[in-house]
Amino acid sequence: MAATATTLSDLHLIHQRAKSLRDRLTSAPKLLVTREAAVVKRQADVDAAKKALQEARAKIKNREVHVQSLNVKIDDLKVKLNNVKKNEEYKALQNQIAHDKASIAKIEDEILDSMGTVETQAADLVKIEAEVKTFMGEAAVIKAQIAAQAEEQKAQLTVLEAALVEAEAVIPEDYRDRYRRTVKQKGADALAQIDSGACSSCYVSITPQTVNELLNKNGLIFCQTCGCLLYLTDEDTQNTRRSKR
Ligand SMILES: [Zn+2]
Repeated sequence: MAATATTLSDLHLIHQRAKSLRDRLTSAPKLLVTREAAVVKRQADVDAAKKALQEARAKIKNREVHVQSLNVKIDDLKVKLNNVKKNEEYKALQNQIAHDKASIAKIEDEILDSMGTVETQAADLVKIEAEVKTFMGEAAVIKAQIAAQAEEQKAQLTVLEAALVEAEAVIPEDYRDRYRRTVKQKGADALAQIDSGACSSCYVSITPQTVNELLNKNGLIFCQTCGCLLYLTDEDTQNTRRSKR
């Protein structure tokens, strides 16, 4: 009966609406999980960067302390220098002072280099800390959206699922099992309309005989290629009828 054409199309529409609603209900929490994982990962980067910065600063501090101790040592050596009698001792002290001064110059160069590195590290840290803040903000927005929309969407889904049960009355008893199997397997794509003489799911042509059966028979027709439950649009039903006259 042609009457089933419209109702099967309605049934398909309800399936599709329920699917898109279910998709929305699951995709938002998935997105939130992704964003929250990004926050955790970036926070770990922040922690590592902080630790590296701390270590680099401690290293500079150590070197500064070393320079101070060398300066104290040189001052001592200078005092000794004034009091030595032997020329050899004098020369040895002078060498030691020269050596320590060279050490200081070398360490001070290292300190200067390290300070440059620390500056870069500190700037990077500020950048990734800002990123963490942004990620956290995004996650919070998604979380709020989910909370605001979930209730409404769940209520809509309940309505659609009730409508689905009602619309399924269009499936004759004999075909219920096959219909349910197909829905279980294909979800909202279990039904397919015939579009320009072909199954709109697999695009394989439907024989005119099958179309005739759809128009005249009481039973349901499933696509022989993809297994979808086929239906004609109102328009197709009318056109086919007209062309037959
Ligand atoms: Zn098909």
